[in-house]
Amino acid sequence: MPGEKIALITGANKGIGFEIARQLGGHPGVIVLLGARDEVRGKRAADALAGHGVAAVPLRIDVTDAASVAAAAAEIERGHGRLDVLVNNAGIAGGFAGPPSEATAADMREVYETNVFGVVSVTNAMLPLLRRSAAGRIVNLSSHLGSLTLNSDPGSPFAGINLIAYQSSKTALNAITAGYAKELRGTRIKVNAACPGMVATDLNRHQGKGTPAAGAVIAVRLALLDEGGPSGAFLSEDGIVPW
Ligand code: NAP
Repeated sequence: MPGEKIALITGANKGIGFEIARQLGGHPGVIVLLGARDEVRGKRAADALAGHGVAAVPLRIDVTDAASVAAAAAEIERGHGRLDVLVNNAGIAGGFAGPPSEATAADMREVYETNVFGVVSVTNAMLPLLRRSAAGRIVNLSSHLGSLTLNSDPGSPFAGINLIAYQSSKTALNAITAGYAKELRGTRIKVNAACPGMVATDLNRHQGKGTPAAGAVIAVRLALLDEGGPSGAFLSEDGIVPW
């Protein structure tokens, strides 16, 4: 159907991802593929969205499992032949919260598998489908905590937070965003990093002040950018976030 957009959100069974799915699905013509690593949780979330009047199709995708990522891409290819929006939302904080001097490679790897390697794996699996879109959009869920500028500023509001695995994973995600934007410059695909702000979700044991609904807004805006919009940017609802 002309004007129809096929949108995949990873980790959309709860938190910010669920809200991105709800808000994107509320836009006329957007078909939401609700990514979830667990089939039951995905189905439950799709049912909850139906309760909000939003139709979403659950799609099993574990971003750390290459076979699951390939199967999800094959299913989208079969069902739709293309993808217009990819929101790389799935993310974890990881179990390690000690000082950097006590982190192990395993602590780092745990978080990187999802927040870094998972994004590259999903993006590369979906790129052939995104290249078939008239206006492909990739949105990566980053964080103020990934900003090197803010992390190196003792006066920053985030100066007291030192979560080496999570923060450096989001810094890497920012670099990945810039790298894909560079490669895809001159194509119809835009790639941006969205900063939702501190949002109360399971990820931070509900310590954030913002709501998932408010946190989702910037990602939805970047997912629906028109041709004049930026690519290779790091944005929150308040504007540009320093890299
Ligand atoms: P959340 O409520 O914990 O949700 C995380 C989602 O990611 C869940 O659906 C989870 O699925 C999914 N997930 C985790 N590992 C996965 C995997 N291997 N494959 C597929 N899905 C996986 O967290 P959130 O706060 O909404 O976070 C969403 C994104 O926003 C993350 O990238 C996070 O880093 C980013 N972010 C959050 C904040 C904040 O303040 N909350 C701030 C800045 C950025 P399960 O239910 O199966 O675990």
